[in-house]
Amino acid sequence: MIFSRDLSILNAMEPIVSNLFEDNYVKTGALKCDCEKCQIDIILLTLNHVAPHYTSSQTGEAYIKALYQEPQLQSDILREITNAVKVIAERPNH
Ligand SMILES: [Zn+2]
Repeated sequence: MIFSRDLSILNAMEPIVSNLFEDNYVKTGALKCDCEKCQIDIILLTLNHVAPHYTSSQTGEAYIKALYQEPQLQSDILREITNAVKVIAERPNH
């Protein structure tokens, strides 16, 4: 099994979900609980409901920025984040 390569593989949805969550929920103070555990749980739950878009670390940044500009993608992800926020607010893991 190979665990490391020169180029790493990353899911473009990770930074995109994190950024959208940060801008729309964390910065606006809209969360019932904004501890680190709840924030990570919301991001994980969202990522598990959004199709991954894999890229390599070499071309990643431009690809992620281009994806991030798509209004349809943003609204799909925001819908999933909104659902995840509700689930975690009702059943926080602490
Ligand atoms: Zn919490």
